[in-house]
Amino acid sequence: MKLPKRDVPSFSIKLPVSNREITYRPYTIKEEKILDMAQVSDSDNDKFKAIKQIIENCSDITTDKLHPADLQFLFLKIYAVSDTPNINVTYNIAAEDCGSTEDDKYAACPKVLTTSFSIDKDVSIVNTDALDKNSIKAKGDGRIIDLVDNIKLQIDFKTVDDTNAEKLDFIKIVYDMLISVIFPDADDPENIVVLEKKDMPYKEFSEFLESFQPKDLQNLKDFFTDTARCEANIKAKCPKCKKTFETKQTGILSFLI
Ligand SMILES: [Zn+2]
Repeated sequence: MKLPKRDVPSFSIKLPVSNREITYRPYTIKEEKILDMAQVSDSDNDKFKAIKQIIENCSDITTDKLHPADLQFLFLKIYAVSDTPNINVTYNIAAEDCGSTEDDKYAACPKVLTTSFSIDKDVSIVNTDALDKNSIKAKGDGRIIDLVDNIKLQIDFKTVDDTNAEKLDFIKIVYDMLISVIFPDADDPENIVVLEKKDMPYKEFSEFLESFQPKDLQNLKDFFTDTARCEANIKAKCPKCKKTFETKQTGILSFLI
């Protein structure tokens, strides 16, 4: 007799930002080791690599062009079916926030509450329509961002995995995600030129972007900062004064890994 083979269920989901339909499966104990290793590491980069590895193993998608909110959402969904949808968190209470105004009563209130949130019920993607405020969908890959004087950048989503501070250079990140620069021909403005990244060395692009005024790049900056994000709605109730606390939390993956 041989031991039975375990069947792995599969699930499908529509990613909230890209609207792509994808299928995923739970990770196994063997794959959980990837997360365990990353959990004991101090490096955010190691943690991020582990998350991407799990997603690529367990779904039919490659992670390099995922919007960060889609990436987080998908990882949470995989975690929920593999381990648990309920995540325990601690909630720190500022002294002035707890229910009673009387000093002695507050003294009895705990300063830290333990609570939990559900990946399936309390996590959502918010601010998804921001994308359409600062960019439009390109005919090919990625999004088109209008700068100024009809100069546009076509860029793709990319999950920035190197959180090394000195490498988080804005122009480098933009170049990393760049597909093409679109602009009117100087001699014949009716003629629109599409210059692809492969024909544009980094130095040339860097000097080009640095020649703009800060206000010309506002749309581009908004593309990065005013964007969809993955948020958990966390509630906690003080057992002493019965006051309920509620907060919106981003950066949820740090609770898991
Ligand atoms: Zn209290």
